[in-house]
Amino acid sequence: MSKNLIYKLLAVVMLASLVLTACGAAGDAGSDQKMVGISMPTKTSTRWISDGESMVKSFEELGYATDLQFANDDIPNQIAQLENMITKGADVLVIAAIDGSTLSDVLGKAKEAGVLVIAYDRLISKTENVDYYATFDNFGVGVIQGSQIIEGLDLENQAGPFNVELFGGSPDDTNAFYFYDGAMSVLQPYIDEGKLVVQSGQMGMDVVGTLRWDGAVAQSRMENLLSANYTDKRVDAVLSPYDGLSRGIIAALRGVGYGTADQPWPVITGQDAEVASVKAMIAGEQTYTVFKDTRELAAQTAKMVDQALKGETVEINDTKTYDNGVKVVPSYLLTPYSVDLSNYEKLLIESGYIKAEDLK
Ligand code: BGC
Repeated sequence: MSKNLIYKLLAVVMLASLVLTACGAAGDAGSDQKMVGISMPTKTSTRWISDGESMVKSFEELGYATDLQFANDDIPNQIAQLENMITKGADVLVIAAIDGSTLSDVLGKAKEAGVLVIAYDRLISKTENVDYYATFDNFGVGVIQGSQIIEGLDLENQAGPFNVELFGGSPDDTNAFYFYDGAMSVLQPYIDEGKLVVQSGQMGMDVVGTLRWDGAVAQSRMENLLSANYTDKRVDAVLSPYDGLSRGIIAALRGVGYGTADQPWPVITGQDAEVASVKAMIAGEQTYTVFKDTRELAAQTAKMVDQALKGETVEINDTKTYDNGVKVVPSYLLTPYSVDLSNYEKLLIESGYIKAEDLK
């Protein structure tokens, strides 16, 4: 055999083995890599954008492919996005529902296709086809918000009475009820003893709820409350379950002259530690917010999915609270934290959740 021929043969063998290796690698990735469809409700609140981004990161670190969609607070849109994910062969759906009771049909299809379904932050109700729920201690969030009003007004030491108005979240989101009930569990005794007075008399989620967590709706309700009940009185505190509502409430209060030396801001609560509201806190307008580290929730969700798909024991810490009307969904609850001017730097900036320059 000539030297030339040997070289040619060697080259052919090497080329063939390279091609085989490349095919093998591609084939492995194609067949083994699982796909996670991530369905977030809206981009109007910065928290859901962070949730989405953190989830893509957490899942990719564990070797998953992701398909992240935002549904623009439109229920048919969210359902269509989920159907599309199932058709495209998603192995997992992670869903923060707009309205947790509207997904029964599409989740029936997911079940038929063998898809693992995780309710993310918001419970999915009226279906058995939800495997796990990853969230925060939602009742605990409400307890924090109620306690912030007690602390902000120094109710334990002041005689009062103080005027308070109550806002609830979206009635199609079960979280809204946990937040409200948690807050009332600590506020109701002060209302009963007359130290806190709801001048409007508006209490209960059926009257204080705010559909789709819409700040403009909260603003107009606050404007009505002020003109009907507070032309000759001061509102001392407002229970708000979410920063986006708090900003609407602040706008209404500013409109009738609050935020001056003569008419200081009431105690105002919130939730999510959104940049705009942390700025409002620094400006003295909003008193408190609640920090829920969405990076932790994303990482916990990815971990639970990975455990479930590998057939390992899935880490949960609550098997009692979240009855969705058909079953109690096994859940993992993370801890929420109260934030005010005294600790926002430590909780939000030092932890890297918010960049200091974003608050300027
Ligand atoms: C979430 C809150 C959020 C609210 C509005 C709730 O389901 O738990 O963190 O403030 O939705 O987006």
